[in-house]
Amino acid sequence: MSTPSLDADVLVVGAGPAGMAAALMATSLNMKVLVVEADSVGGKLQTIGALENVSGNWTTGPQLAEALAADLARLQQAGRCRMIRSRAVGVRGYFDRAELLLADDRVLTARAIVVSTGVATMAPSDTDWVRIAPSLPTPPIWRATPEQIGQRTYVLGGDRPLGTWLRAHPESSVTLHVLAPPTDDYKLVEVSGDDRVRVVPVSSVAISRPEYGDGFVVEVEGRQGEHKVYVATAVLSNLGNRPAALEGLSLDETGYCPPDMQHPRIFIAGDLRSGRYQRITTAQGSGAEAALAYYYSTAMQHV
Ligand SMILES: Cc1cc2nc3c(=O)[nH]c(=O)nc-3n(C[C@H](O)[C@H](O)[C@H](O)COP(=O)(O)OP(=O)(O)OC[C@H]3O[C@@H](n4cnc5c(N)ncnc54)[C@H](O)[C@@H]3O)c2cc1C
Repeated sequence: MSTPSLDADVLVVGAGPAGMAAALMATSLNMKVLVVEADSVGGKLQTIGALENVSGNWTTGPQLAEALAADLARLQQAGRCRMIRSRAVGVRGYFDRAELLLADDRVLTARAIVVSTGVATMAPSDTDWVRIAPSLPTPPIWRATPEQIGQRTYVLGGDRPLGTWLRAHPESSVTLHVLAPPTDDYKLVEVSGDDRVRVVPVSSVAISRPEYGDGFVVEVEGRQGEHKVYVATAVLSNLGNRPAALEGLSLDETGYCPPDMQHPRIFIAGDLRSGRYQRITTAQGSGAEAALAYYYSTAMQHV
């Protein structure tokens, strides 16, 4: 199936659950696959402390990531798949090939490209409701241990990692004060029964250091315009994500990359498709589906 002048039949960008499912499906259909990953195999799985909605005996994300890395190693040893560590920056589709542009200016070519770069964690500066100096530390909630959390820990945003953290630490009796803009209300339903969570509804927040001593000053403008000031020992980020789109992809109004808006040689899988389908199983299903979509399109040409 491969053409000597191409680097692969299928290039897979991102080795999270979506990219790995695409690579496994494509190799099982005898396609030559090259995986391009900027960081480590498993993607966001590395951040999941408690896992309960994926089939198999996985109780944490890193366990599943390790299994995926073992799958990839096996395929590499068998000469059916290659992987390079590099950051992709753009894609281009042509009538006979697709090109992937890397940050180091290399260009890779293939019959098709599956882009599964997922979403990137938002920083306070990516939002319009948090003001904070970039030098102030707001580590992500998924990285915090119960020991690092005091009774006055404030969490910026009500995104789903909050629920994952609470499930991963059922024994912890910490209190988490969650600063929640209106757009996060629906996500907080998941943790509404957990009395370790105190929701502080806000329209905006400003965070600074106190004039004397350690900690943070959290100035809140409430939803009715009321002004309150809290003192925090730590502030954690939980602001959600933005799509990690590459140049050359077609975006919808939310910045995501719907599969049906792309060049016929460019396939999108996983979280990058939409804010609505961000789950491991949907990522895996869409990765396999992307490889199959390309396979069926080429099979049809030979009928
Ligand atoms: C804290 C947390 C808890 C979660 N808990 C659950 C849960 O319990 N159950 C569940 O079903 N889902 C959960 N999720 C969601 C789940 O992790 C994602 O839906 C899933 O990982 C998406 O897979 P993906 O392959 O699309 O993207 P990702 O897992 O994000 O993988 C994308 C990969 O692409 C790479 N990449 C990005 N940009 C580039 C680039 N330019 N060039 C090369 N490589 C690039 C990244 O390094 C990464 O390896 C959770 C997410 C988080 C953050």
